[in-house]
Amino acid sequence: MSEEKSLNFIEEIVEADLSSGKYQSIVTRFPPEPNGYLHIGHAKSICLNFGLANKYGGKTNLRFDDTNPVTEDTEYVESIKDDVRWLGFNWAEERYASDYFEQLFDFAIKLIEKELAYVDDSTSEAIAQQKGTPTQAGTNSPFRDRSVAENLELFKAMRAGQFKDGEKVLRAKIDMAHPNMHMRDPIIYRIKHAQHHRTGDQWCIYPMYDFAHGQSDAIENITHSVCTLEFIPHRALYDWFIEQLEIFPSKQYEFARLNMTYTVMSKRKLLQLVNEQHVNGWDDPRMSTISGMRRRGYTAEAIREFCDRIGIAKRDNLIDVGLLEFCVREHLNKIAVRRMVVFDPLKVVLTNYEGDGEILWSENNPEDQNAGNRQIPFSKELYIERDDFMEVAPKKYFRLAPGQMVRLKSAYIIRCDEVIKDASGMITELHCTYIPESKSGSDTSGINVKGTLHWVSARHAVKAEVRLYDRLFKVEDVGNAEGDFKDHINTDSLEVISNAYAEPALVADSSDNRYQFLRKGYFCLDKDSTAEKLVFNRTVTLKDTWAKEVKKG
Ligand code: ATP
Ligand code: MG
Repeated sequence: MSEEKSLNFIEEIVEADLSSGKYQSIVTRFPPEPNGYLHIGHAKSICLNFGLANKYGGKTNLRFDDTNPVTEDTEYVESIKDDVRWLGFNWAEERYASDYFEQLFDFAIKLIEKELAYVDDSTSEAIAQQKGTPTQAGTNSPFRDRSVAENLELFKAMRAGQFKDGEKVLRAKIDMAHPNMHMRDPIIYRIKHAQHHRTGDQWCIYPMYDFAHGQSDAIENITHSVCTLEFIPHRALYDWFIEQLEIFPSKQYEFARLNMTYTVMSKRKLLQLVNEQHVNGWDDPRMSTISGMRRRGYTAEAIREFCDRIGIAKRDNLIDVGLLEFCVREHLNKIAVRRMVVFDPLKVVLTNYEGDGEILWSENNPEDQNAGNRQIPFSKELYIERDDFMEVAPKKYFRLAPGQMVRLKSAYIIRCDEVIKDASGMITELHCTYIPESKSGSDTSGINVKGTLHWVSARHAVKAEVRLYDRLFKVEDVGNAEGDFKDHINTDSLEVISNAYAEPALVADSSDNRYQFLRKGYFCLDKDSTAEKLVFNRTVTLKDTWAKEVKKG
């Protein structure tokens, strides 16, 4: 499959490195910080990193970048592992940056000994001042020329807990006039008296991202360290540490992060949505998280296909969420079993039908020969969708109307004879006759009808709750929209239909089934289901109705 496709620029680099003999095999890593649940942007990074190793016979580590004790948690570690596995990938090794704290500390000592790092007592404001601006050189810290011995003593005292948060930092000694601001004596260690989710209170100094990431890559012999574009200015520092420490020469490569319409994709913002209860948790089916998408009924195959289709770019862009939905729809069309569910029931009484509990058969999936058939009970009293009937119908209305005929899917043709109303004029039921010779599969009636309706037998139907989801945000480019991102939340993004009627075959199905409810869309069973009440999520509509809505305004 990928043979005919042209290589992306990272694959080109990998192929060149393999053919030149620079590496015998490649090692990549996926390095999430366990401070939230993974989102579809992470899926892109996962597919890229694991995809490279799979394609070129290398391996991928799952590394938790857990150097910030305050925001990280084991709950997130577990969810990340679940999500990566669910997406269909297996990591070679499970690693933690926190496992390297001792080694990173030794690296810092080595820099101090080489006179390439110093302890600075300056306040954070003073350090910011010293940095200068992109057009103006910075100034040296008054502590920059401390002796090696003094630096060693102070850094060890920092580790021993002799100072409070913010009292001292360790900085790399590079060049305060460097054109790249990241090279102007960056902070590499800070004091933080906080409980770490893995190391507890063993440490009160923690390495900064730049001092942990490249060194962790080197420790694991990562050959190609792939990250997003905002790390381009960090690359010089990444290389500098590796060079000065004389460790494995991992290399960093950058690609464009995934941005998608009508959604946000930063863990910080997703956390706000959860904490402020705009959604019902990280796995709310409207969220851009992997767990939300999984709960909504998206398949791992569809997400991988989406990541493959969007490719690897060198420039930031905004991807239409419609493409993701297209991939989901395309996969579900192949695997979803067809079922009938009536959302807003209108009773139909077949006045000439005398059978009881007649069993009809219908195919589970016309797209899949092996999916088999299911039984559907038929009876005198049925439910159809209320909006499949019109008392005064316009021309070319092919659904049910007085005197008009329709086919009931996999059953018979019926004709509407009489409309029954209550005192207020509300239609309560329709009296119809069925055509006995018109049974699906053995129709000898010679009658042609244009409309086919879904239906359920009233007596056999199972009540269900159906949850319909819409976009969580009203604007396309949420990240660049005016004001706070939460100003753009679509408050009508969840519609609950609490009294739908489903055909009984749904009860017997396994919980990981995907369904197409005929004429309604694709659905899956939600974890809120109980023995008494089935709850279904609409995964995606049958067609892209959104594009039309937007045009209508
Ligand atoms: P967020 O801003 O959502 O918290 P992050 O980059 O801080 O994202 P990390 O846990 O540090 O999250 O990311 C792990 C890996 O996933 C990194 O290599 C990062 O570059 C990548 N990644 C994160 N977001 C995206 C995205 N939108 N598109 C592609 N890759 C991403
Ligand atoms: Mg991060």
